Amino acid sequence: MNILLLGSGGREHALAWKLAQSSLLSGAHDTLYAAPGNPGIADHAQCIPLDAADHAAVISFCVKHDIGLVVIGPEAPLVDGLGDSLRNQDIAVFGPSQAAAQLEGSKGFTKDLCERANIPTAGYVRTKSLDEAISTLDKFTPPYVLKADGLAAGKGVVIPETHAEAVVALTDMFGGRFGAAGAEVVIEEFMRGEEASFFALTDGTAILPFGSAQDHKRVGEGDTGPNTGGMGAYSPAPVLTAELEAQVMRQIIQPTVDTLRAEGMAYSGVLFAGLMLTDEGPKLIEYNCRFGDPECQVLMTRLHSDLGEVMLACAKGDLAAQAPAKFAEETALTVVMAAKGYPEAPEKGGAVDLGDAEAKGAKIFHAGTKRDDAGSLTASGGRVLNVTATGANVTAAQSAAYTAVDAITFDTGFCRRDIGWREVAREAG
Ligand code: ATP
Repeated sequence: MNILLLGSGGREHALAWKLAQSSLLSGAHDTLYAAPGNPGIADHAQCIPLDAADHAAVISFCVKHDIGLVVIGPEAPLVDGLGDSLRNQDIAVFGPSQAAAQLEGSKGFTKDLCERANIPTAGYVRTKSLDEAISTLDKFTPPYVLKADGLAAGKGVVIPETHAEAVVALTDMFGGRFGAAGAEVVIEEFMRGEEASFFALTDGTAILPFGSAQDHKRVGEGDTGPNTGGMGAYSPAPVLTAELEAQVMRQIIQPTVDTLRAEGMAYSGVLFAGLMLTDEGPKLIEYNCRFGDPECQVLMTRLHSDLGEVMLACAKGDLAAQAPAKFAEETALTVVMAAKGYPEAPEKGGAVDLGDAEAKGAKIFHAGTKRDDAGSLTASGGRVLNVTATGANVTAAQSAAYTAVDAITFDTGFCRRDIGWREVAREAG
């Protein structure tokens, strides 16, 4: 079968690497295409220039190249309805419809769904004007959690400590800081606890638990400084015990899948639940309608199951026939190497030399890399590399990952040196 993977980040490199091992691609003429891909993805797939926003172009590529499965990596094409455009042409897609992708595309949509399905989450009010939002603040106690309703590239959440700061932030949000995504603002109760991510694949009815992870969103060590797309992650998340996972499945994932199906918006693809582990049990912070980046890199590193087969089963509605997903028991940990200046103003064009990092046992997933005319690797984005290693626990995986990081020459880059610190401290007892 031919498969088309859309995207160009570290997440898609991990997906391409794993898909390339699938039995679906074992025939001599089976081809994995990636659009647009990156230099790392090019090791596993044929990279092609195709704009995911141009649905007609994607459809015509699929027809011409007899694509049996399209895997949509990032959220924007899903929220934009690419899944529906392809399904309307009978092309199998891994990824939800536009209606179901509102789980990520509209925070208000998800909060209302939680209310209807009795899913544990923070109390909230949806507000549509600055005046309404300011008067709503009185219903909450600080710190205030203010969220632009729509997609804002992970930057749409502000958590001011005081009422005065909240008014400034709301003025900014309704003043157009996030464009149309901020036309509505959700104000939430602040939840205390440790965060963890849980993944599940679904075809709209059957659900396959698909692992857990924890990430580090802040740019600085000790989880300080501005938020980023993620500076590192590890899987599994030991805080999410088997008992808690069962509770998350029962109280959060199952009612989400059932309610969406009952309401005519059956969800197919991966459900990525951001959780807060509170004293009252796990509560939903948010849903994403795609794999996390860099969480995907650590999940794929541990995955033993055939990724192509489970993705196709989601797309075709026969996930119930699949065996439970198999993951290695060991821990995988990934360290993001970013260009200096990230997240505000990453320095582009710096030379990147991977040295013998992979020979030291790590797997390097490319994100913002490019090959120059001479074939040398340079930095072309904020997050550049994901240096991923495994070990018996987080401490061992962390040590293996940093050994590989130290074998890489990237003078205009940096990374955090403490990925996994919380768990490393717990393991040290
Ligand atoms: P991303 O897509 O980057 O994960 P996002 O912009 O979609 O983020 P959320 O995940 O909803 O937004 O929130 C971002 C972060 O803000 C969370 O990871 C969490 O640390 C914090 N946060 C969000 N909601 C709450 C809440 N109700 N109580 C406490 N902290 C919260």
